[in-house]
Amino acid sequence: MPKKPTNERHCSFCGRPESQAIMMFSGLNGNCICDSCVEQAHSIIEEKLHTAVSSAKGAENLLRVPSPSEIKAHLDQYIIGQEDAKRVLSVAVYNHYKRINYSQQHHDADEVEIEKSNIVIVGETGTGKTLMARTIAKILDVPFCIADATTLTEAGYVGDDVENVLVRLLQAADYNVAAAERGIVFIDEIDKIARKSDNPSITRDVSGEGVQQAMLKLLEGAVVNVPPQGGRKHPEQPMIQVNTRNILFIAGGAFDGIERTIASRLKSSVIGYNGTKTRQEIDRHNLLRYILPMDLKHFGLIPELVGRFPMLTHLTPLDADALLRILTEPRNALVKQYQALFHMDDITLQFDPDALQAIVDTAVQYKLGARGLRSIMEAIMTPYMFDLPEMKKGSTLTITRQMALDQIDQSQINNTLA
Ligand code: ADP
Repeated sequence: MPKKPTNERHCSFCGRPESQAIMMFSGLNGNCICDSCVEQAHSIIEEKLHTAVSSAKGAENLLRVPSPSEIKAHLDQYIIGQEDAKRVLSVAVYNHYKRINYSQQHHDADEVEIEKSNIVIVGETGTGKTLMARTIAKILDVPFCIADATTLTEAGYVGDDVENVLVRLLQAADYNVAAAERGIVFIDEIDKIARKSDNPSITRDVSGEGVQQAMLKLLEGAVVNVPPQGGRKHPEQPMIQVNTRNILFIAGGAFDGIERTIASRLKSSVIGYNGTKTRQEIDRHNLLRYILPMDLKHFGLIPELVGRFPMLTHLTPLDADALLRILTEPRNALVKQYQALFHMDDITLQFDPDALQAIVDTAVQYKLGARGLRSIMEAIMTPYMFDLPEMKKGSTLTITRQMALDQIDQSQINNTLA
């Protein structure tokens, strides 16, 4: 006997009869959906939306981190030589930002905690320490500031509190705290806050050691109260809280005389039975390449501070060849800058090779390094720039060695820079 057809409606999704559902919603063509299917669909939608939003948020906060070789290739465009430092820095910066991205994606307490890789660059003044840090910040498009360690004092003394370093970073980030918290701080002249003796028991050198102590907190990663406008902290002032955990600190210093420490260490290790380098192998002209953290301690940085800069690299002094390349090769080389200035007035500017050599020789003679190149160039070019608007459009100006030497002679450069 055929089954008696019923008029009962069924859910078109799960087949549940209306009698077993709390509610049944009807759609077109007699299709229906029961309350439990509606609920299930709703929770699927919720879940999908939530993942989409949070992954969009995550992507927004993640930095696109270029690879070490990409970072190095970029540095090569602006910085001549200094291969060791460029490699070390590229890897350190790559790891640092990879670490930030990793910690944003993984909040699990059991995950491996990757420590940050603050860097110390040792090298004579004018060899490109600041340029290196500045270029890195530009590549990564993060806020960057320079702080001078010599102006810092420990709280209670005349001078800047160490927190003021972060005020500059906040300013560089237009007070966007999240951006500042991923920025780069270059601390210049870190060697100037060394204590005078590496034996802490002899005397307590307040000025140097106190600042070093005060800096530890910034370096290791802490939430620091920063007075928004800088200056001294006072109780009524509102404070901005900045977490330094993901701020990369790059410190630079000349560490005058540290070669002697390195030399004596190398000497004793050569004499020691496990010395791996013979006297002949040691590059005596560039002892800095053998620098180790213990040399910084010997120089007067406290062990805790040295420990917070796991990466250490050096810059080599610039010889005449390097200066010549600096004049012409970097993307924003001085010669290219002046040529661009003249080009705006429709004049082609050229330099005879021996004119460039004369500029380099002057910089070497007065021990001006790369920084002196600009003043010498300025001395040579100022008279020509004065006449520039009146020069015939479309013409070419070639600076010869004699023209360069004449201008250097006529300018006060010999007197002011000697
Ligand atoms: P430091 O911080 O070591 O005292 P800087 O980075 O301020 O030195 O360098 C001073 C200037 O010299 C830079 O602005 C740059 O024009 C030039 N300079 C120094 N070293 C280099 C280099 N290796 N390549 C290109 N330019 C350099």
